[in-house]
Amino acid sequence: MPPRISLGALRPLSSRPATATWVRISSRRRFASSSAEAPEVYDVVCVGGGPAGLSLLAGLKASPMTSGLKVALIEGQDLQKNRLQKDASLESFSNRCSSLTPASVKNLQEIGAWPHVNLPRVQPYQEMQVWDGITGARISFDWDTAKPLLSPRNPSRPTTIAYMIENVNTTSMLLSRLEELGGVDFYTSTKVDSIDLGTDTDKVDFSSWPILTLSSGKTLAARLLVGADGANSPVRTFAGIESRGFDYNRHGVVASLKIEGAGWGGPDHKIAYQRFLPTGPIAMLPLPGNMSTLVWSTTPERAAKLKSLSPNDFLATVNAGFRLSPTDLEYLHTLPSGQEDEVAWREKHTPVDSRAIPMRVTSVQPGTVASFPLRMRHADTYTGERIALVGDAAHTIHPLAGQGLNQGQGDAAALVRTISHAVQTGQDIGSTLALESYNSERYAENNAMLGVCDKLHRLYSVESGPLVGLRSLGLRAVDAMGPLKGFFMSKAAGGT
Ligand SMILES: Cc1cc2nc3c(=O)[nH]c(=O)nc-3n(C[C@H](O)[C@H](O)[C@H](O)COP(=O)(O)OP(=O)(O)OC[C@H]3O[C@@H](n4cnc5c(N)ncnc54)[C@H](O)[C@@H]3O)c2cc1C
Repeated sequence: MPPRISLGALRPLSSRPATATWVRISSRRRFASSSAEAPEVYDVVCVGGGPAGLSLLAGLKASPMTSGLKVALIEGQDLQKNRLQKDASLESFSNRCSSLTPASVKNLQEIGAWPHVNLPRVQPYQEMQVWDGITGARISFDWDTAKPLLSPRNPSRPTTIAYMIENVNTTSMLLSRLEELGGVDFYTSTKVDSIDLGTDTDKVDFSSWPILTLSSGKTLAARLLVGADGANSPVRTFAGIESRGFDYNRHGVVASLKIEGAGWGGPDHKIAYQRFLPTGPIAMLPLPGNMSTLVWSTTPERAAKLKSLSPNDFLATVNAGFRLSPTDLEYLHTLPSGQEDEVAWREKHTPVDSRAIPMRVTSVQPGTVASFPLRMRHADTYTGERIALVGDAAHTIHPLAGQGLNQGQGDAAALVRTISHAVQTGQDIGSTLALESYNSERYAENNAMLGVCDKLHRLYSVESGPLVGLRSLGLRAVDAMGPLKGFFMSKAAGGT
């Protein structure tokens, strides 16, 4: 009788023969032996090659403790096709951009990915202007004013609040790093068709192992299955982990825009702007040169209207979003067209401090006006037997603080540390015990950030009443109190 393989303890998989064969015996959960091909056995199978999944794999392969693990990536899209061209024009930017915090950039440096970034396409910014669209109460963030009151434990003088970067630049640098490191089996343009539990056969006990069937027909067995597969995570569904939350009934309208100059601060001091309107915040974030990226959170009806406008009417409405009153904006959204003339007329009668708002947008890059539904979701847990969730698979957050992708980077780094520790101490990397530290470290931190962003959204959705006065008082008070401002800035930058 052939020896029975115990899969509890970690050992190199590449040398292990995969002898079991498989058929599905339950339509939902179980596989058993008899099909022609045995599943290929991996230490880590990651579903999802977005920023979170790629960062996890680069972290595993860059760490000496985990670089020997047998690892696979499954991604539904063609990652090579979606890659950023090295000579891409600086006049043209993807509409999916994120603000990477210094903590995320540090992690990308530590795993060796940052040298692969297309740096001319990254825009650091040094100041943020945030204001209430109803009362005009304002708070400005820049490290120069917060610096004297920074924590004595962190006396270094940062200048950058965050780095605006196209998501495709982030995934491209991570892919380049993975190619440099080697050792990942890529299954791209390949979807996961089903995930089932294995069975205990004569030779191998796979009864707690997820077995993945790919769209190509191939099957993989995972000691640890990582769901980095976005908000509708099939891995989370397989694991039976509930994800709770709600839809904001808001869409984030994005676009790549050209502004009339390099910005008020000039090319070396870039400013991010966000105005809270009752329907949601409108934000203009700097990109290199005189490019900018828009994120306007608004009702689905208004999002549809914005997308239907001619380029000139769209630009006028965006400029109005930073300049005109919420009542004016409401009216503009009822017009089928003609926003350009209407805004020009209304602006003549609306005084603004032009240095406190972004420069005017002068053109919109064709094909970049799009919208995404906004949701708040949080999985009940990030781990289960042989399961870990990272990134949007674990949580989705309102984009008003630009934290979603950064949270995924934090998850990936924490999971790499947890797996490294399990390897170092000889634990089974898929056991719930080994994964527990990942769950406890990340769940609480992400939950706090989800709560803050949700409350901010609610606070600024109120149009009248005492709350409006109170929130403006609060904003002005924080603006006047350097230590509190320094604290908020450290948190937003990804610090502790
Ligand atoms: C309007 C807007 C603005 C935002 N701005 C910011 C910002 O400024 N800063 C910030 O930090 N975050 C921001 N975010 C959030 C950020 O974009 C996301 O948090 C981030 O992209 C999630 O990355 P991820 O890797 O977890 O998931 P995704 O990027 O969703 O990647 C999941 C991957 O899994 C693959 N996949 C899914 N199912 C399968 C399957 N069955 N088989 C194979 N592959 C599969 C998908 O193809 C995809 O590539 C914003 C979001 C929105 C909507």
